[in-house]
Amino acid sequence: MPELEAVIGLEIHVQLATRTKMFCGCALSFGDEPNVHTCPICLAHPGVLPVPNEEAVRFALKIGMALGCEIAPRSIFHRKNYFYPDNPKAYQISQYDIPICGAGKLGEIRITRAHLEEDAAKTIHVGESGRIHGSAASLVDFNRGGTPLVEIVTEPDLRGAAEAAEWARLLRETVRQLGVSDVNMEEGSLRVDANVSVRPAGTEELGTKTELKNMNSFRFLQRGIEAELERQREIVGAGGTVEQETLHFDPASGDLTSLRSKEEAHDYRYFPEPDLVAIAPTEAMLAAARESLPELPAERQARYETELRLDPEQAKRFAGDPALSEYFEATFAATRADSETEDDSQSDTAAIEPRVVANWVSGDLIATLRAADKTDEDFRDPTVPPAALAALAAQVATKAISHGSGRKVLTILVEEGGDPKAIVEREGLAQMGGDDGELAAIVAAAIEGDPAAAEQIRSGNGKAIGAIVGAVMRETKGRADGGEVNRLIRQQLGL
Ligand code: ADP
Ligand code: ZN
Ligand code: MG
Repeated sequence: MPELEAVIGLEIHVQLATRTKMFCGCALSFGDEPNVHTCPICLAHPGVLPVPNEEAVRFALKIGMALGCEIAPRSIFHRKNYFYPDNPKAYQISQYDIPICGAGKLGEIRITRAHLEEDAAKTIHVGESGRIHGSAASLVDFNRGGTPLVEIVTEPDLRGAAEAAEWARLLRETVRQLGVSDVNMEEGSLRVDANVSVRPAGTEELGTKTELKNMNSFRFLQRGIEAELERQREIVGAGGTVEQETLHFDPASGDLTSLRSKEEAHDYRYFPEPDLVAIAPTEAMLAAARESLPELPAERQARYETELRLDPEQAKRFAGDPALSEYFEATFAATRADSETEDDSQSDTAAIEPRVVANWVSGDLIATLRAADKTDEDFRDPTVPPAALAALAAQVATKAISHGSGRKVLTILVEEGGDPKAIVEREGLAQMGGDDGELAAIVAAAIEGDPAAAEQIRSGNGKAIGAIVGAVMRETKGRADGGEVNRLIRQQLGL
């Protein structure tokens, strides 16, 4: 039996954060009283006419460009017919063969298309308490009905559950940074369906796929796909065939239940929407969309890895947090500015590597903020301006103070602000060592105070050095450089 390879394609619905709905002037809202944002158009009264939301078109163009999609010069709307209580027109206005955004790519994954459509209303199934005349009932909240959506469809290019979840995270981050959606999975402003099949590794032909609907977190998306792949591998491994169906994954039980089979599949009878003209973006609209694109996460990550040699995890962290990353860049720039203004003799701040600056920002600073019960966001309200952190990093890099002392200074900076150099002086944190003999004397005293440890070190037990280093650090209150202390101990023991 050859190994069975996973084949996965995603369909992602993004609710656009426009002010109003896709085809009427009703406000978008989340969490308001039911059925307060409705009008004859989104309730499908007879004779009403839809008018497309220009802001939604602009947002769709931004998404399409961020995903490298070809933009259609004239895309058209279709009616997708289905009867369901959450859909009062009995059809959804969507796009079919000519979507606004065609083929594109994000990372290594090809985008098939991204089209505009309207969301359905929200159905709330009420249990025992909501029974009407003895039967279970469903309630419909039309506030959501008609919300603008962009549906993004990928080619079946993903090869595993973890890869799919990882890529979906990148997509979410990309759309989030465009500022066109809240992309909140729990609230449903980002919804992901996964199409899953298996095939013998090395073959090209696609196997029969199943579709997992509406996973509401990336973790569940991954677990749902994993469970489905395992189920399909078992079936195919036992000589059976996978049935085409739509499935629901229950993250609590891990169960997959069938929502509908191929026989029950909808026939949507698409036909062109006669009440709407084609969407033909002007040159000005295209240019505005292009110019509004920020540096996107994938680009930023690549730049940090190649130009600044940050490790991939760190580069990704910054790519996913534009504000933190701007703070990092300002701090990094400040380390360079310092080294240009100070005279050469006392300045080797240029030797601070980007990676080290990155650690100060995403490691030490964030940890210190948390320890001070501040949120990670507090770097935006800068008690520690980038220049101060840069100056602090420089003091540690030039060994003017130890790293431990640097953390102490940072705590003070976070609590009360100030100038790092002044804090170092005020707190007496200047690093000991060098030629003044003070550190050497403390080391000598520590060796004398622990003859047993000294004897063990002499007889080759390297670990015993820790006891003496610890004693020196206590005596110097962490102001000594660990490397220097080690060196002095070995020197004094004649090793
Ligand atoms: P449908 O007609 O069922 O909607 P599409 O061809 O439109 O299917 O594809 C919908 C999604 O399913 C796309 O993301 C696509 O990449 C993915 N897909 C299609 N065929 C397969 C397959 N055999 N295995 C996994 N994913 C698939
Ligand atoms: Zn309306
Ligand atoms: Mg399809």
